[in-house]
Amino acid sequence: MDVRPFWLAGSPARGEAELTVTNPHDGRVVGIASVPDPDQAEQAVAAAHAVRKEAAALPIHVRAEALAHVSRRLSERAEEIARLISAENGKPIFWARGEVGRAISTFRFAAEETRRFSGEVQRLDTEPAAAGRLAYVSRQPHGPVLAITPFNFPLNLVAHKVAPAIAVGAPVVVKPAPATPLSSLLLGELLAETDLPAGMFSVLPVPNDRAAALVEDPRLPVVSFTGSGPVGYAIKEQVPQKHVTLELGGNAAAVVLADADLDWAAGRIALFSNYQAGQSCIAVQRVIVDESVLDAFTPKLLAAVDALVVGDPADDKTQVGPLVSEQAAERVEQWIAEAVEAGARVLAGGDRDGATVAPTVLAGVPASAKVICEEIFGPVLVIQPVASADEAFAAVNDSKYGLQAGVFTRDLGLAFRAGKELEVGGVIIGDVPSYRADQMPYGGIKESGVGREGLRSAMEDFTYEKVMVLTGL
Ligand code: NAD
Repeated sequence: MDVRPFWLAGSPARGEAELTVTNPHDGRVVGIASVPDPDQAEQAVAAAHAVRKEAAALPIHVRAEALAHVSRRLSERAEEIARLISAENGKPIFWARGEVGRAISTFRFAAEETRRFSGEVQRLDTEPAAAGRLAYVSRQPHGPVLAITPFNFPLNLVAHKVAPAIAVGAPVVVKPAPATPLSSLLLGELLAETDLPAGMFSVLPVPNDRAAALVEDPRLPVVSFTGSGPVGYAIKEQVPQKHVTLELGGNAAAVVLADADLDWAAGRIALFSNYQAGQSCIAVQRVIVDESVLDAFTPKLLAAVDALVVGDPADDKTQVGPLVSEQAAERVEQWIAEAVEAGARVLAGGDRDGATVAPTVLAGVPASAKVICEEIFGPVLVIQPVASADEAFAAVNDSKYGLQAGVFTRDLGLAFRAGKELEVGGVIIGDVPSYRADQMPYGGIKESGVGREGLRSAMEDFTYEKVMVLTGL
């Protein structure tokens, strides 16, 4: 099997070590990635640092064309890339195609947004003392971005860091998740086809125990991290002087109020508690249901869960595939067992076959159980009945996380109340918390993170406002 090169300052390169990537569904080898030697990683960082001024001065049309090119090429190679994502991650091909479609949009949005990202002029003569003065406010890149990405969206979450970095003229060094480096290496191929200067991007699949050298390198002043809380907070502690963005986990809730369309809610919640086998930071983990509709809603939910197709991720019909590893599935199984020991009832699923956990629905779970309080990152849904909308909103907020929440209601007043009262980064009315459009601001509060992604938000995050005051006008 060919060894895929990594990307060192825009060129393919090979190191001494290799990383073998396997399909979690059947253990077959999907590909082999070359791992950079420490001096090669150092060269990539040096190149990003060296090109930073040229990058910041890159004409907008060059950035926009490079981003549009990647979008077009992703589109042309969409099926091949979807197959690769599915194989390395275990994600059903249906969802992998969706991820490629989103990455195509992410690069296209970045190409559009970079044309609009021009700063503003402010008149300062609002006060007599500033008469005749004008401020030109521009946005300048902080400098090269270190992008550390998780396994669960191995293409689009890399795109969410690479595209805005290029859009603002910042070089980017990607450190992908060790379980899923191949999609980002393929993205490197498409970036290498553009006219971006050498040094503008590198993709370095270094092992975690060598990531600290990148995190601590002062030539990478921005760390954009998506992954788990413990790793994210450790990074923030390691480099308090850096500009660190953290996109972390959650235990997302969907609220079903008394006036909800129960068929729609049941179908959406069943699908999105199990999409990517629950391995999404906004997969539905808790469904908070007004007890007046609990008896009508629960059978609809269980029927929708029962109808999900579980199986081989390469099969077009599969909706739920394996978790990223058997070890991850064992942990989920263990958390289910702990909940059951504490009194939970298993309404659906509950069992494991290798890396695959059956879509699981639990009821009667004590509030202190891990399946409620911690991020399960598996296909497990907990039903929590409540007596009112007030109680429902309080239950959503009774969490250390605050990423997104979904509220199924047709009452505009309740919708606005939810928008106001829920302590999360995004409130989705009429759908699951798992909804994300790639151009919208996205990110959490509390322990779900710091900072925002979404094209414009990430571009703001990778830049600072610089003011030039003109006097004597
Ligand atoms: P993880 O924290 O294990 O790994 C994330 C990345 O950090 C990987 O590239 C990993 O190799 C790297 N890493 C690990 N140890 C490191 C270290 N010491 N120094 C530097 N980098 C290190 O997370 P994961 O298991 O890949 O992803 C799942 C997590 O990501 C979940 O908690 C999920 O909620 C979260 N996530 C959040 C969002 C979001 O936008 N909020 C999106 C997707 C996933």
